[in-house]
Amino acid sequence: MSQQWVYMFQEGEAGNKNLLGGKGANLAEMTQLGLPIPHGFIVTTEACTEYYANGGSLTDAIMVQIKEALSKLEDLAGKKFGDTENPLLVSVRSGARVSMPGMMDTVLNLGLNDVAVEGLAKKTGNTRFAYDSYRRFIQMFSDVVMEIPKPRFEKIIDRMKEEKGVQMDTELNADDLKEMVVRFKALYKEEKGVEFPQEPEHQLMEAIKAVFRSWMNPRAIVYRRMNDYPSDWGTAVNVQMMVFGNMGSTSGTGVAFTRNPSTGENKIYGEYLINAQGEDVVAGIRTPNPITQLEQDMPDVYQEFTEIYTKLENHYRDMQDMEFTVEEGKLFFLQTRNGKRTAGAALKIAVDLVAEGKITEETAVCRVEPKQLDQLLHPNFDPKALKAATVIGSALPASPGAAAGKVYFTAEDAKNAAAAGERVILVRLETSPEDIEGMAAARGILTVRGGMTSHAAVVARGMGTCCVSGCGEIKIDEEAKTFTLGGNTYKEGDYISLDGSTGNIYGEDVATIEPEITGDFETLMAWADKARVLKVRTNADTPRDARNAVKFGAEGIGLCRTEHMFFEEDRIMKIRKMIVSKTEEERREALKGLLPLQKGDFVGIYEAMEGRPVTIRLLDPPLHEFVPHTDEDIAELAKEMGLTFEDLKATVEGLHEFNPMMGHRGCRLAVSYPEIAEMQARAIIEAAVQVKQEKGYDVVPEIMIPLVGEKKELKFVKDIVVKTADTVIKEAGIEMTYHVGTMIEIPRAALTADAIAEEAEFFSFGTNDLTQMTFGFSRDDAGKFLEDYYGKGIYESDPFARLDQTGVGQLVQMAAEKGRKTRPNIKLGICGEHGGDPSSVEFCHKVGLNYVSCSPFRVPIARLAAAQAAIKNR
Ligand code: PEP
Ligand code: MG
Repeated sequence: MSQQWVYMFQEGEAGNKNLLGGKGANLAEMTQLGLPIPHGFIVTTEACTEYYANGGSLTDAIMVQIKEALSKLEDLAGKKFGDTENPLLVSVRSGARVSMPGMMDTVLNLGLNDVAVEGLAKKTGNTRFAYDSYRRFIQMFSDVVMEIPKPRFEKIIDRMKEEKGVQMDTELNADDLKEMVVRFKALYKEEKGVEFPQEPEHQLMEAIKAVFRSWMNPRAIVYRRMNDYPSDWGTAVNVQMMVFGNMGSTSGTGVAFTRNPSTGENKIYGEYLINAQGEDVVAGIRTPNPITQLEQDMPDVYQEFTEIYTKLENHYRDMQDMEFTVEEGKLFFLQTRNGKRTAGAALKIAVDLVAEGKITEETAVCRVEPKQLDQLLHPNFDPKALKAATVIGSALPASPGAAAGKVYFTAEDAKNAAAAGERVILVRLETSPEDIEGMAAARGILTVRGGMTSHAAVVARGMGTCCVSGCGEIKIDEEAKTFTLGGNTYKEGDYISLDGSTGNIYGEDVATIEPEITGDFETLMAWADKARVLKVRTNADTPRDARNAVKFGAEGIGLCRTEHMFFEEDRIMKIRKMIVSKTEEERREALKGLLPLQKGDFVGIYEAMEGRPVTIRLLDPPLHEFVPHTDEDIAELAKEMGLTFEDLKATVEGLHEFNPMMGHRGCRLAVSYPEIAEMQARAIIEAAVQVKQEKGYDVVPEIMIPLVGEKKELKFVKDIVVKTADTVIKEAGIEMTYHVGTMIEIPRAALTADAIAEEAEFFSFGTNDLTQMTFGFSRDDAGKFLEDYYGKGIYESDPFARLDQTGVGQLVQMAAEKGRKTRPNIKLGICGEHGGDPSSVEFCHKVGLNYVSCSPFRVPIARLAAAQAAIKNR
């Protein structure tokens, strides 16, 4: 048979999320389990890929199969599209492998037209309901599928309410709604130049194409980049027979989670609305009832609901996020999927499921998204500061965490302010998928409208961003960019704080404290440590960072950047003195002043690491970074240093380079000024001797020479280091082991790694520079144009954040192999930013590196990612 693009729920393969999308695979599975699922079919993710391959249109083969599925659906439902007695209506939803908040909104009531609406009225005996459904469909189809701006329809509704002298939509009667349909259709014709489509099949094809188009909308692209999802996954489309929750007081619709998605508590959690349709619950327009109230409102339905959700959770062995509708007392499940949850909830649920005997420890380890741990590694409110702070309001604790920052009112402003380094709190009436980037940039989100399952709440929980939602007491003026709460008015840039765990809002900047790994977090990390093969080190330049990293589980330092120490106030003058020195003697004199300071730093770091391995890198950046550049600053410094302005200016100008990143930096500095390497090697070893003698830690310093591209330059610098280190050890009269190695961050070093390994005892992949040099674009400037590349689908992710395994990765793998060939026990690690990125960590596991090294806050993420890599690649 030729390729199958469309599957009925009865025939789709359970669990085949790649083909059917998460939603589709589960709908198929639930149908096959005999659960009450409205009939439907799935257009596959492969059809989406085919749609793009076919220049953005559905192929004949796909259309034929959709039509066939439609006629099967009509048979199953016992209804016909466009029927005058009992018309078939469907919903159209997107459904990728994983749920993607940036994707297309659902279209409901598809199939309605001028004829079918009368059929619906006849069948239900409710003309008002039929026309309300029709006008909603026209609105949704026009907005979601045809991209006619929503406010244009809202204006018509407002005008009608004014004309009829009513406040609420629900006060409009059947004739009013009929009139509304006429006006909506007129607007459609005005916007599109054609009549509103009456042919259900045509409506359906357009809606399916719109879902496919939405796969490449900017929000979806951003979301995929944030989560490392590739664009070739595509999205599936689910077409499902409508059931109606808005058919009166025995109907309703709701959303529920089998466990609490904020805390993980094992208790049903959700909301529903009587006499409401689909999106009403999540849109946050009406405030829904807690799910437990359903027990009183409809006891039989609640009983069946409980049985089904228990069955679903036991089946999937994970917390489920479900949508359901009750149509005149009959319960239907519209979907179930593994629910999005906060990191705290993810840990609790995973650990609880192990305790309940439902999953193994290793499955639990794989259940938690490593990047999500980031949420738990950020500060909480300092209890003392919190006690002293004034609560100005309180609303729903929609996504836990503590956030303090400046108020911004639009996603765009929030994004810009965050890019400028501000701590941002995004305040909105309600959020929508267009706000996704602003939400990602914000530390906290506050909304006036919306319940615990509103867009803001669901998305914030997924992102791990603190969110307080549904604060109806707020009077917001989004245009003037102000809001009033608790008697005070806050404008853009004012500080507030949010507690996403209690829902409290504070009108000030409340101080925060560092997090700790305890409880479920600690339990899961212990299971992860059992599974992983890769060691995890940290990049740390200060004793404070080092201690923090050890607390988070770091097993050593993979990169200590020594230059950061030189920028401190008491150092910068000394290094500048060294830089302006005219002779070697002068330079040596200046370096003498730096030696004790540098040694002191290393002592602090060794002590903090308590004998764990420490890799210290020799000076790396170009020297011009240490000198001032404006005439004013040069003049001031010249005065301080007893130099003439002209003299200092000439030195500064002499350091100017057109391409400093490819200039006089790294080991090249030590080639020109060996005395710098000499001073640093002395400081490294003297500090180790001191810590060994005073604290008894057996420090084995690892001295790392950066930016090497040629074996002979490495040998030149190494010889200086070895000579100095041996002298210091001899002077101390003790035994001490140390290692000298290099970074692999220049493509030539990777290409000649076999030769380089003759001199280097270890390699550390500096994938920041290696990425920069391999792609040939600057790590400081690429951000400016990479956006264009993402938008045009050329690159999907930032290669400085996620290792480019195809290109840069190939160099890493080759260098690792060549290095091992020369020196079988060579130690291999990575210290570029990628060392804390889960997909890159998996790559490092696969190529057999010994360790990854990342910033302290990413150490737990790397530990978990390393464990998942080991489990997945067994
Ligand atoms: C690197 O290039 O990957 C690296 C770790 O060094 P730096 O970021 O300091 O250049
Ligand atoms: Mg580098």
